[in-house]
Amino acid sequence: MKQKRDSKQTPLRMGGTDKELFFRHVAQTSAAPMALEIVKAKGSILTDKNDKKYIDLIAGISVCNVGHRHPKVVKAIKKQADEYLHLLVYGEMVESPQVQYAHLLASNLPTTLDCVYFTNSGAEATEGAMKLAKRITGRTGMIAFQHSYHGSTQGALSVMGDEYWRNAFRPLLPGVRHLSYNSKEAIEAINETTACVIAESVQAEKGVIVPDVEWMQALRKKCTDTGTLLILDEIQTGFGRTGTLWAFEKFKIVPDVILLGKALGGGMPLGAFVASHKLMQGFTDNPVLGHITTFGGHPVCCAAGLASLKVILKEELVKGVKQKEKLFRSLLKHKSIKHLRSSGLLMAMELDSFETNKKVIQLCLSKGLLSDWFLFAPECLRIAPPLTITEKEIKKACSIIIESLDELASNKRGKSGK
Ligand code: PLP
Repeated sequence: MKQKRDSKQTPLRMGGTDKELFFRHVAQTSAAPMALEIVKAKGSILTDKNDKKYIDLIAGISVCNVGHRHPKVVKAIKKQADEYLHLLVYGEMVESPQVQYAHLLASNLPTTLDCVYFTNSGAEATEGAMKLAKRITGRTGMIAFQHSYHGSTQGALSVMGDEYWRNAFRPLLPGVRHLSYNSKEAIEAINETTACVIAESVQAEKGVIVPDVEWMQALRKKCTDTGTLLILDEIQTGFGRTGTLWAFEKFKIVPDVILLGKALGGGMPLGAFVASHKLMQGFTDNPVLGHITTFGGHPVCCAAGLASLKVILKEELVKGVKQKEKLFRSLLKHKSIKHLRSSGLLMAMELDSFETNKKVIQLCLSKGLLSDWFLFAPECLRIAPPLTITEKEIKKACSIIIESLDELASNKRGKSGK
């Protein structure tokens, strides 16, 4: 039935600026979205409608590892758009960009991770992997970690490690335990009823927490001993972000399943979970079509992702990450910085509070630098630029951060009269 519009409501056809329409018609999830009006993005630079430039220190939250609109990625998108877009639901047609991308991914992963299921997003990759673990083991118990983030859909939310975000959406999946990351207690809790352990290779949203090598190895061993699948989330850490192509390489272990997203699509929406061919067979019978998606592995997104991974490999972007991390670390020295945690170009600059961090982010923005905070570490400034960021851009970015910290400190001194 057609509902009458309230006379106080804005007439539907009334126009407005993009910003007005953004607040009126685009669903908001916070009271204070950034609402920047970017009209162009290239490399590490964003340009707004007033021609103001911003150095992008967050790369769309670890998405644009090869920079914004890398020419090879744009070319691949255009080429694919000229050939075909969507053809049929996932898994029916031999679509060359999808096949070639799966092949290149498998060629750059341990041999047991040779079968790729492409999805639309990271959260959907989490969902698929959780289902696969239940299907393969016949078990329902899952172990996840406090302060972990694996997506916002209901299964992924069930394994998210923060009660504040989970609580309003109950009931969630039963049988999930959230334990302390990098703890002995977690290893001891894994047993013959556990279908899977799901963990980030490096916890990003808690402000870059790198687990001990021995802990990861013990986790691997206990999963093997109990027949539990080890799922490592590389959605934020993959594609060179932490200084190795995959963050799990640092621990000299091989997970049973990895989750990919973000940089996987080279700036286009794409996710994936990768396992052995044998495990993935679990989706082919009882029931057949064990996981379905219409758009997962879209040919244009796969073409973009394939071009992006080729750039990462050919331009040896991973090699430069450690050097760039070092440069950031040498320049980010200030008495207001409590800690600077990093794993490659995934860095968390810890300040004394969320309030301070918000002010620094705002000051940086006014000076042409885009940063952000972390979901479970709001007191930390996020530094995760494109891996292609230049030395000059890093120096400029750091000088803006230091200038902002100085300004804030002198404002505080002024207010306290010291
Ligand atoms: N896992 C991790 C570690 C993430 O950082 C994210 C997104 O921020 C996700 C999963 C979910 O990915 P998406 O937002 O594409 O659903």
